Amino acid sequence: MNSEAIRPAEQTKFDAVIVGAGFAGMYMLHCLQKLGLSARVYETGGDVGGTWYWNRYPGARCDVESMQYSYSFDADLDQEWRWSQRYSPQPEILAYANHVADRFDLRRDIRFDTRVTAATFDEGANHWLVETDQGDRVSAQFCIMAVGCLSAANTPPFDGMKDFEGSIYHTGHWPHEGVDFTGQQIGIIGTGSSAIQSIPIIAKQAKTLTVFQRTPNYAVPAWNGPMDKNYEAEIKADYPGFRAKARARPTGFYFPFNAKPTLDASPDEREKKYEEFWARGGLPFLGAFGDLLFEKEANDTVAEFARRKIRSVVDDPVIADLLCPDNIFGCKRLCVDSNYYEVYNEPHVKLVDVSKRPIERFTKTGVIANSIEYELDAVVCATGFAAMTGSFDKIKIIGREGLTLSKKWEAGPRTYLGLSTVGFPNFFMITGPGSPSVLANMIPSIEQHVDWMVDCISHMRDVGADTIEPTLSYEDDWVDHVNAVSEISLRSTCSSWYVGANIPGRPRVFMPYIGGFPVYVTKCNEVMTNGYEGFVLKGAEDTNKLPRVRWTDRWQVELDIEVMSPAAIAAGRVPVI
Ligand code: FAD
Ligand code: NAP
Repeated sequence: MNSEAIRPAEQTKFDAVIVGAGFAGMYMLHCLQKLGLSARVYETGGDVGGTWYWNRYPGARCDVESMQYSYSFDADLDQEWRWSQRYSPQPEILAYANHVADRFDLRRDIRFDTRVTAATFDEGANHWLVETDQGDRVSAQFCIMAVGCLSAANTPPFDGMKDFEGSIYHTGHWPHEGVDFTGQQIGIIGTGSSAIQSIPIIAKQAKTLTVFQRTPNYAVPAWNGPMDKNYEAEIKADYPGFRAKARARPTGFYFPFNAKPTLDASPDEREKKYEEFWARGGLPFLGAFGDLLFEKEANDTVAEFARRKIRSVVDDPVIADLLCPDNIFGCKRLCVDSNYYEVYNEPHVKLVDVSKRPIERFTKTGVIANSIEYELDAVVCATGFAAMTGSFDKIKIIGREGLTLSKKWEAGPRTYLGLSTVGFPNFFMITGPGSPSVLANMIPSIEQHVDWMVDCISHMRDVGADTIEPTLSYEDDWVDHVNAVSEISLRSTCSSWYVGANIPGRPRVFMPYIGGFPVYVTKCNEVMTNGYEGFVLKGAEDTNKLPRVRWTDRWQVELDIEVMSPAAIAAGRVPVI
């Protein structure tokens, strides 16, 4: 079936429907177009870009270096696109998404301003019926969720919000025309990554800025700046080689890493190493020692180092104390900042601790916390997302025998490899729960998933299969493995959005796969080359035919021995599956 053959406006049958036009949906569409399949993308937003379309708050930028936070599927694209900064700002990332959409002619198959409301599997016809809020009812063999891990904004229902006469914004739904806070009294709720990026910029405009902090976070300076032309040229001289090095890392991006255990170093050596990695800045700071996220005692040393850094910047010791987290360093997602702590030395910036008593309510003119009313013209909710499953929850997804996905995932998401889930044939999730997703560089995570799915779809066509679905025993084993592995890391110990703890009532389950990108990719490759082990293909004429590996070929990753030393593997630091 070719999408050119029928006018898109009239077409109601597709090979695939893709939900979402962020980096995941865009790349999936490109691959299906190349394969000659008909695909329709529905996107709630008015254009492509997903995260970078919605999160337009001041200071929004990536925290994986731009040279790595980009697609790798097209060598010419790699060479022609130029990032202006080490960590490029949101408008530039959005411009990149637009460039990709234009260059690969994606928009013809995307319907914007259209939310998918329901997807139902028709067992008789072996296809999905997809419905939207614009009245579309289309069918497709495959339903592919590219809805994003951090796309369902969470605005806590504070009492009295409706009475507030000022403006309320959420960082994840920032107005396109921008907001001018000049001369205004602004409140911001939250001190996660979005808040930490936006606070210094909002503080520059606002007359007063009141930050409501429930839990302080660790932030490492980005040391952002203009792109180093030599660095760019060096990478571009062998971009595929550089990308391959990055893929061999548990995080899916490359940075210098010191595998040595923390406590093997003397206090002086440790201090030197921390200073050296602090000077590089950003998430790679976590590479200062090999066991920071595994050994509490090791982690205590880095946490103390970070607290000393905060105290060295913030003049008022009481404020500095409030800003110092006392939990595991890197347990909640590490933040990357540009002049965040410095802002608290400004007389017009106030920090309000709401850790002991929650924010009481909004009033007509402000917010009450700790029995004090703060008069505000506008409030910014930097309160995060219903992560990983929030955008699934908003769609009525019905699989075989009337089973709804929300019912199946009541006690936490259950998937096989984060790619698919029992009871929902021909239903794929890009960076779904149970895959490395948010614990890795997301763009390679997306590309690897899409390539695997596209190979799978090609194989199904080769062998004449109508449906593919995982088996319960393989799914159960994978869920158990994801849980077991999460316990190896200190990351599973705190109340983060990784475990759903930011949303009251959500089951506490560590949702992403923490075993590391290369370990995961190797597993996916093996499943494929073993003839889709753990999946049942139905309607196949030749079920024994081994798959031809096409797109997935570029994901033959090797474990980076520098990072995953045999000793680390033996010690169970890096799970081998
Ligand atoms: P998204 O970009 O979230 O796109 C999903 C799309 O699906 C959205 O546009 C949404 O509108 C649409 N959608 C959802 N439900 C429906 C529906 N029912 N119907 C129609 N459309 C729907 N990751 C990194 O690796 N590095 C970074 O530096 C980084 N920085 C980030 C900064 C911010 C502020 C945030 C919020 C996230 C960041 N991330 C980062 C994670 C980021 O989400 C991913 O890197 C990536 O952009 C995800 O792409 P995606 O296409 O999977 O999802
Ligand atoms: P977040 O990390 O979940 O932070 C939300 C903040 O709001 C937390 O400080 C939270 O406090 C607070 N909060 C939530 N509900 C509250 C309530 N009822 N009262 C008071 N405070 C409340 O969300 P985010 O900052 O948007 O970031 C989410 C993720 O997106 C990041 O972890 C990261 O993966 C990605 N991101 C990346 C970047 C980047 O640098 N590239 C920028 C932004 C986002 P508690 O901690 O106490 O829950």
